[in-house]
Amino acid sequence: SIPLGYFAGIGTLSKKGVLVKGGNYLEALKNIQKIVFDKTGTLTHGVFEVNKIITKNDFTKEEIIKYAAYSEEHSNHPIALSIKKLYKDKIKTDKIKSNEDISGHGIISEIEDKKIIIGNEKIMKKHNIKYEKSDDFGTIIYIAINNLFAGYFVISDKIRKEAKETINYLNKNQIKTIMLTGDNEISAKHIAKELNIDSYHSELLPNDKVNILEKELGNKTTAFVGDGINDAPVLTRSDVGISMGGLGSDAAIEASDVVIMDDKINKIIDSIKISKKTSKIIW
Ligand code: ADP
Ligand code: MG
Repeated sequence: SIPLGYFAGIGTLSKKGVLVKGGNYLEALKNIQKIVFDKTGTLTHGVFEVNKIITKNDFTKEEIIKYAAYSEEHSNHPIALSIKKLYKDKIKTDKIKSNEDISGHGIISEIEDKKIIIGNEKIMKKHNIKYEKSDDFGTIIYIAINNLFAGYFVISDKIRKEAKETINYLNKNQIKTIMLTGDNEISAKHIAKELNIDSYHSELLPNDKVNILEKELGNKTTAFVGDGINDAPVLTRSDVGISMGGLGSDAAIEASDVVIMDDKINKIIDSIKISKKTSKIIW
């Protein structure tokens, strides 16, 4: 049987827009000793903007925008959305002959008679593209057209304003914080420093995130907080999987134990506080 206090606690949190899927998760919240955060969409808004476009090898901006937008047509990754916003014409989907989304890397596609590779350095290296590494600050998305380096997009995302308060609270309460991201080392370092996060891991593939989480689990109660895009496996494996309801897919909401419906990450603070209070009432 579930102690009555849990119903009250779950009810209070649901009024605040935090869905807790059972008394055991409410109980676990007060014991959390570590929180692992995904970066994009969780600590940041997950809304990217293109700040700069650089072309190479005589390609024009119009060309790279067009091929990038066509390649990203089927993706709803926050990066894809920012790139598609640049292209003002209508996408003719019959021109997309093939399209493969390579998780943690980017996309490979055939558009009309051209082979397009778009994504991070990992995908450029994997296909032996002679790209020049950008030293711009931000997330860098490289593009190759018929295996020739055609340029790159510098894009950026903003830190959520509630993230700072959340990390401060966790630091004050001796809860260890860790950030994981598939993004590059420079962006990751900047955000971890800005928010005072204890440690971070960058340039990860979705499977690397699962491996790191498993190492972190140890004997400490560990929560994972993600936006639900590509992180359902990590949400499932953590002691308490917390997802952002706004951006997350239905699958992510299903994979998580706690859902923050309006994406206000500082509701983690309320959740921990209410969990502590609830257990006082019960015992
Ligand atoms: P995060 O850990 O930041 O949530 P993801 O695992 O979703 O990131 O993606 C990691 C990296 O893979 C991105 O920073 C980007 O470089 C590349 N990438 C992923 N999806 C795409 C896409 N649709 N277009 C271009 N690059 C992508
Ligand atoms: Mg993500």
